[in-house]
Amino acid sequence: MKKPITIPVKASCADDHEPGILSVEAARKHILSSLPSLHGHEKLALRSALNRVLAKDIISPLDVPGHTNSAMDGYAFIGSDLPTDEARSYRVIGSVYAGDVFNGECQPGECIRIMTGAPMPVNTDTVVMQEHTMSHGEDQIRISSEHHSGQNVRQAGEDIAAGSVVLNSGRQLIPADLGILASFGVGEVRVRRRPRVAFFSTGDELRSIGEPLNEGDVYDSNRYTLYGMLKRLDVELLDLGVIGDSEDALREAFESAAGMADIVITSGGVSVGEADYTKIVLEQLGEMNFWKIAMKPGRPLTYGTLKDARFFGLPGNPVAVMVTFYQFVLPALHYLTTGKPYAPFMLQATCDEELRKRPGRYEFLRGILSQDGHGNLNVVSTGRQGSGILTSMSRGNCFIHLDEACAGIKKGDTVRVQPFDTLI
Ligand code: AMP
Ligand code: MG
Repeated sequence: MKKPITIPVKASCADDHEPGILSVEAARKHILSSLPSLHGHEKLALRSALNRVLAKDIISPLDVPGHTNSAMDGYAFIGSDLPTDEARSYRVIGSVYAGDVFNGECQPGECIRIMTGAPMPVNTDTVVMQEHTMSHGEDQIRISSEHHSGQNVRQAGEDIAAGSVVLNSGRQLIPADLGILASFGVGEVRVRRRPRVAFFSTGDELRSIGEPLNEGDVYDSNRYTLYGMLKRLDVELLDLGVIGDSEDALREAFESAAGMADIVITSGGVSVGEADYTKIVLEQLGEMNFWKIAMKPGRPLTYGTLKDARFFGLPGNPVAVMVTFYQFVLPALHYLTTGKPYAPFMLQATCDEELRKRPGRYEFLRGILSQDGHGNLNVVSTGRQGSGILTSMSRGNCFIHLDEACAGIKKGDTVRVQPFDTLI
C-alpha cells in the first residue's frame, strides 16, 4: 500500500489564527505614532476656507451681537415698570428698526415700538412681543402682568465675547464656522496646507479607461474609488496612473511619488507572490513594514517611509482597498491635517439577520443601515462579502464591525456599525 503524501499547509489569508499577525488596532497605532507634522500654511478668502483646517486660534475682535437688541417684533419697556398685578396702558413714544438707533429715552409709563434686531433704546431692557399687546387710542398699548423683566432681549456678546478664542487651531471649518468668522468681519483666514497625496495602481493586468481589454485584463477601478474617497477629504491629489509589474517601472514610480507627496498610496502588488517583488524595491527605497493584519478583507498591508513621505501599500482587491483606506489611511490623513485622533462615528444597530463568524480576525462587513419610523436603527449585510464584490460598497452604507473576539451574530443582536457614506 502506498504511503499517503502529506502536503504541508502554510499560513494563509484563509486562516483565522496565525502567528505573527497584527491586530487592526496595533497597526493603526503604529501608523499614527509615526506620522510627521505637516508644515506650511496659506491665507485664504473665507469662502475658499470651507473644509480647510485652521492654522491659528481665532480670537474675536468684537462682541457678537455687537449691541443688546430685541429678539422679537414688539415693544421695549423698562423692566421695573412692568405691571405687577393687573393690566396697564403705556404711551408709545416712537419706534426703532434694525439698523436704527432710537434717539431719546424711555420713561416710566412709556414704551417704544421695536423690531427684531433693533438696539434696545436707553433705559429699556425688556420686550413684550407684538402678539401680547392690545393697542387702543392713537398711541397707547395695553399689556398684562404676565411679563418679566429682561425677556426677549439678546445681550451684547452673549454668543461671542470680544477677546475670546472662538475657533481653535486644528479645527476643520464647517459652514457655521464661516458664518461665525463673517459675523465679526473676518474675510481671510490662515489655514494649514492640504496634504499632497499621490496614488497609483500596480498590475500588468490593469487597463485604463479607453484602452481595449485583452483576455485576462481588467479595468483599473481602484484609482477611481481612491479618487472619490480622497476628493471628499479635500486633499491635493496626484493621480500617477497605472504602473506595470516591473521592478524598474515601480522604482521610478515610487521615487517620483515620494518626491512630490506627503502620502503615497498604491493598490495591488502586496499579496503573496507579488509581495517579494515590490518588497525588493520598497526595501531599497525606504523603511517598510509588510504586515499581515488580522482583518477581513484587507489582510496584507504595507506601511512605511519613502523619503519624507509615508507610504501605504493597499491590497489590490477593490473592496479591500476601500476598507483599508477607511481604517488606516483616513485616520492618518485626519491626524496629519488636524493633529487630532480620528474618532469614527459609530452607531449601534439591531442586526436583522444571522452573521456567521469565527473568532480570530476583525471583519468589516458591508451593511445596509436603515431607520424605522421610531428612529430605531437596523442593519443587514449587503449579501456576498467577497473582497472583489465592489457593488457591496456601493449598495452598502456602513461597515458592520465584528471584532476579533466575535463568534457570530444572532438575528436581533446589537452590532456596532460605522457609516461610510458620511465619513468626512
Ligand atoms: P494583487 O493584490 O495585485 O494580487 O491584486 C489582487 C486582485 O485585485 C487581483 O484580482 C487584481 O486583478 C485586482 N486588482 C488589483 N488592482 C486593481 C485595480 N486597480 N482595479 C481593479 N482590480 C484590481
Ligand atoms: Mg497585482
